[in-house]
Amino acid sequence: SLKCGIVGLPNVGKSTLFNALTKSGIEAANYPFCTIEPNVGIVEVPDPRMAELAKIVNPQKMQPAIVEFVDIAGLVAGASRGEGLGNQFLANIRETDAIVNVVRCFDDDNIIHVAGKVDPIADIETIGTELALADLASVEKAILREGKRAKAGDKDAQKLVAILEKLLPHLNEGKPIRSFGLDKEELALLKPLFLLTAKPAMYVANVAEDGFENNPHLDKLTELANRENAPIVAICAALESEIAELDDEEKAEFLAEMGMAEAGLNRLIRAGYDLLGLQTYFTAGVKEVRAWTIKKGDTAPQAAGVIHTDFERGFIRAQVIAYDDFIALGGETKAKEAGKMRAEGKEYVVQDGDVIHFLFNV
Ligand code: GDP
Repeated sequence: SLKCGIVGLPNVGKSTLFNALTKSGIEAANYPFCTIEPNVGIVEVPDPRMAELAKIVNPQKMQPAIVEFVDIAGLVAGASRGEGLGNQFLANIRETDAIVNVVRCFDDDNIIHVAGKVDPIADIETIGTELALADLASVEKAILREGKRAKAGDKDAQKLVAILEKLLPHLNEGKPIRSFGLDKEELALLKPLFLLTAKPAMYVANVAEDGFENNPHLDKLTELANRENAPIVAICAALESEIAELDDEEKAEFLAEMGMAEAGLNRLIRAGYDLLGLQTYFTAGVKEVRAWTIKKGDTAPQAAGVIHTDFERGFIRAQVIAYDDFIALGGETKAKEAGKMRAEGKEYVVQDGDVIHFLFNV
């Protein structure tokens, strides 16, 4: 399954945030396809639509979607030259599918900042430069390797080398591949190289409890994120780790007291899920209401394959009710009567929230 890697300079609050995620997380043992390692947190994707579906269907069981976060410690300036735990750090990021950049946006004289002062933009540059330099080295190596095949007449290698050469000056300036504007086909050709700065990325601004407003650090980071078209979530990691300790009732009380609609972690988890290019469709029966995870753009047979590979192979058609119709009309029977249950074939691109029944041959 796809994973978000949590990165950031030392002392920005990564572990605090990761611990909050794992505390509110679930038993990995129940998810045999997930990675079970101490630095991996598996969390449910909070989705208010599930409760709405349950009100109508009254299921015996509910099964939310899940997503994985990986705590990637050890970034220091010089990582791309192998300083500190540099190589391990880069290898760990390579295995993730998206990057969650935690940035310190709180002042606290008791907590040392590795660069001597709180400066979100400088911190991001430090990390960005290391990742770009690591990619630069990978790209240079690939040019040598693929260049031979290109000279021998290999068309794919020629295409790849042309892209890599375009990227060299960009990476040399410390800029990420994701900002270069490659098209889908070009990105697909790069995929086997596992380049770090080609992965989608977002920012988490770790702010003080009272730092959600009138916080110049947060303002600067927000401006940068907007310029890059990158998602940003402001969170107070220290507060989230307290919230994660509470049971449901205490949690609701605490959030109400703080004037928060929900835990900040919920926003982070959903943003991570979205960053990975994932979305949800539902199956809704009396036995179970379940959220299934697919990639945005997946077709009906691909969505069926998430339940069982036989479903994909033997796919006949999907009976689909849009989430809004299902809720507004009060369930499957009434949606069907109103003509809102569609029969969709192999080409149908599943929409977020679709409630689906698959018909298949075995
Ligand atoms: P990491 O090195 O990035 O994993 O950082 P840690 O999570 O270990 O946090 C470093 C220090 O900052 C710890 O002493 C935390 O308690 C503190 N810290 C983390 N988040 C916050 C926060 O939101 N506000 C304040 N004031 N301190 C925090």
